[in-house]
Amino acid sequence: MAAMRFEPTLLDQIRARLPISQVVGRRVTYDKRKSQPARGDFWACCPFHKEKTSSFHCDDRRGIYHCFGCGRGGDIFSFVMETEGISFSQALELLASRAGVSLEPVRQGASGGDVRSVSALAQEFFTESLSGSGGISGRHYLAKRNVPEHFWKEFGLGWAPSGWDSLW
Ligand code: ZN
Repeated sequence: MAAMRFEPTLLDQIRARLPISQVVGRRVTYDKRKSQPARGDFWACCPFHKEKTSSFHCDDRRGIYHCFGCGRGGDIFSFVMETEGISFSQALELLASRAGVSLEPVRQGASGGDVRSVSALAQEFFTESLSGSGGISGRHYLAKRNVPEHFWKEFGLGWAPSGWDSLW
């Protein structure tokens, strides 16, 4: 289901430089017995709900996290948006500077150049969210409203999971 891309996008560049385990690791303590760092496989107690056993999983290979207890899931961008309570563009600024990736082309784009703007990146992010594991309820909703799948791409429909700025 992942879209084919011929050159890595800015979001991908940032994701490639910041493993999900590193971003999440600033907030949680990993379960040493359950985690297998060599495989990019990390477990911790979930930062989004109270629990005593580790059901929160980080997968460095796929760059995503998922909690088997409360169902929260996403990538580095959604994680900092949720834990810091910030918007997508703020998360983008924060992670780009941590990753050492320049946002200058984006800023030029926003002022009218031919490079993509922050809103285009946000669009890309929410479109990805819809097709990702966190977008299940969004996909159910669209199915219930009889919105065919090819419309999603055509109209750039996206999914903003609960707690985030909604941006449809
Ligand atoms: Zn949880």
